[in-house]
Amino acid sequence: MWSALKGRVSNRLARHFRAAPHRLPAHAPMVSFTFDDAPDSAAGEGAELLERHGGRGTYYLAGSLIGRPSEYWHGLSDDAIVRLHRAGHEIACHTFSHRSSATLDEAAMAREIERNRSHIHGIDASIQPQNFAYPYGIASVWRKPQLARAFRSARGILPGVNSGIIDLQFLRASPLIDREIDTAGIDRYFNDAVLSGGWLIFYGHDVTDKPSPYGCTPHLMRHALEAAAKRNMPIVTVAEALQRIGA
Ligand SMILES: [Zn+2]
Repeated sequence: MWSALKGRVSNRLARHFRAAPHRLPAHAPMVSFTFDDAPDSAAGEGAELLERHGGRGTYYLAGSLIGRPSEYWHGLSDDAIVRLHRAGHEIACHTFSHRSSATLDEAAMAREIERNRSHIHGIDASIQPQNFAYPYGIASVWRKPQLARAFRSARGILPGVNSGIIDLQFLRASPLIDREIDTAGIDRYFNDAVLSGGWLIFYGHDVTDKPSPYGCTPHLMRHALEAAAKRNMPIVTVAEALQRIGA
């Protein structure tokens, strides 16, 4: 109970403290599509849709879920990871075990980071993950500075557009999840991004006609990709976006 409370408080504090502030330069808006865990359909249909629209995605992988079945999907295979990497998609990190950062002390987090990196490295030695996403979107005020030393950025699931002064260690991301958003909601985020000249990041999991509670249909994803095209917004990986904003 106490530790659950501590975790919640730490997550809340993480929004405001120990930030890695970065002022977004006056910039044309851009969008990133990210997938967590990641299901094989994100590497299949998801990647295909992105590529057809001239974009690439960022895949935040937990080594322990790669190639494994779970409640809602089958984890992507080693071969799929290599294919994504060679096609220009970004391979990035969750924790290895998918444990929340709020439950890990410094030594445990260090082991998670090391184990995940070496697992991914073992699949293809040319993959060098640079970015992190908090499992369950739960940040920790204590782990933020540690993650900042290990990765260029950390992404949460706090919705909204990243604009003005952004926190590189708690990037905002909006759901690409049928249960949480519809096409009108997606359009609103795109309009906000155009108005603010900001960086819009979507997060999701599976991409399939009958998605899990955490995934989307190809229809919803296609809508988002076409919304980007209509507004001439480049579809870039998180690594590419960071380069563009000089972070
Ligand atoms: Zn996850």
